Amino acid sequence: MKVKPSLRNEFIEPAQPAPRRSRQARVCWGDSVVTIGGDAPVRVQSMTNVDTVNVIETAIQVKELAVAGSELVRITVNTPEAAAAVPHIRDQLDRMGVTVPLVGDFHFNGHRLLTEHPACAQALSKYRINPGNVGKGDKRDRQFAQMIEIAAKLDKVVRIGVNWGSLDQELLAEMMDENAQLATPFEPRQIMYRAIVASAVESAQRAVDIGLSADQIILSCKMSGVQDLVSVYRALARQCDHALHLGLTEAGMGTKGTVASATALALLLQEGIGDTIRVSLTPQPGEARTQEVLVALEILQSLGLRTFNPSVTACPGCGRTTSTTFQEMAKQIDDFLRAQMPLWRTKYPGVEGLKVAVMGCIVNGPGESKHADLGISLPGTGEAPAAPVYIDGEKALTLRGDAIATEFQELVEKYIEDRFGHAGPANARAEHV
Ligand code: SF4
Repeated sequence: MKVKPSLRNEFIEPAQPAPRRSRQARVCWGDSVVTIGGDAPVRVQSMTNVDTVNVIETAIQVKELAVAGSELVRITVNTPEAAAAVPHIRDQLDRMGVTVPLVGDFHFNGHRLLTEHPACAQALSKYRINPGNVGKGDKRDRQFAQMIEIAAKLDKVVRIGVNWGSLDQELLAEMMDENAQLATPFEPRQIMYRAIVASAVESAQRAVDIGLSADQIILSCKMSGVQDLVSVYRALARQCDHALHLGLTEAGMGTKGTVASATALALLLQEGIGDTIRVSLTPQPGEARTQEVLVALEILQSLGLRTFNPSVTACPGCGRTTSTTFQEMAKQIDDFLRAQMPLWRTKYPGVEGLKVAVMGCIVNGPGESKHADLGISLPGTGEAPAAPVYIDGEKALTLRGDAIATEFQELVEKYIEDRFGHAGPANARAEHV
């Protein structure tokens, strides 16, 4: 093979997400504000799956989602009883010290619920309105306007959330008819893409015309296929400057849902598209609802967009590691770091950026350990029963015996105390929001 002369001189551009260019919405409750869009970090949000009518159950799940890292939590508001429960949920959250804004999810009867339950309209910080589900014919514009007028009066943020499963059928039919008149009609999928984007952007324009600030409008166009989502969001980002809520709808469960969501969101976030994300995972039986939040955090952290937790780099293991020792140790360290984070986040500012490596043998162990703040290279099969530990890139000591995991954990704790225990701004490398 002939090597190009430029091989060793080529400047290799470091990959990084493109900057976002959107308006900034302010989601307010009490004296608190969460900004979305503009220069705000990409926000994580989630949605409850308990009956909103059950105030305590809903408040507990909102708290769990918030503690897991969700910065906004959406709840279903589908009946008068649910609307009546909303202010009580807000009160309960305030009593529990849960500082997270509530988003109301409205379909079909949102205009009535918001009008007839002013305390609900006030307690919610943001409304999600699906333009495909606000009514038909002349009722559609009237009912949409009714909701937007309330949002404008109370200075609430509105997400105009189009979903391909509930796309405005009248708009789609109109656009299909127009397409059929063309000498060379486009594929139906192309028209569906256009209808989805048009539904969001035209609804946003109607909302502005009614009196809602353009800054307070967030748009989403959710699809369940990765390539469909990418196509539509690229078009949406070209067509408007509203903050965008990004998510793959009906992603599914388990590995499939996680991978599909991560793939779709990463492609778009890397292009600077997306100001707030939600991972729509179907919980597996027994799985906590908070899983969708954990996945969202990992997506943002993996892309380098935000830093939430110390990262543990671990090799996958191979034939050189014939025991499960290093897998158990990597998990033990990871679990330990995550469990401490609620306390450490305030006690040790900047600890989120800590990097720990737990490696299975000397092939990549020392090298990877040197790139981490702390790293340990466990002995592979046939290697001497010793585990060199690297701190800040230098070999610091070697651990031996049965208590390597515990001793390494103690070293991690000491390192954190020394480095972040008296952390001022100079030490606080990670982002604080
Ligand atoms: S570091 Fe060693 S144990 Fe881990 S995958 Fe590489 S060769 Fe295998």
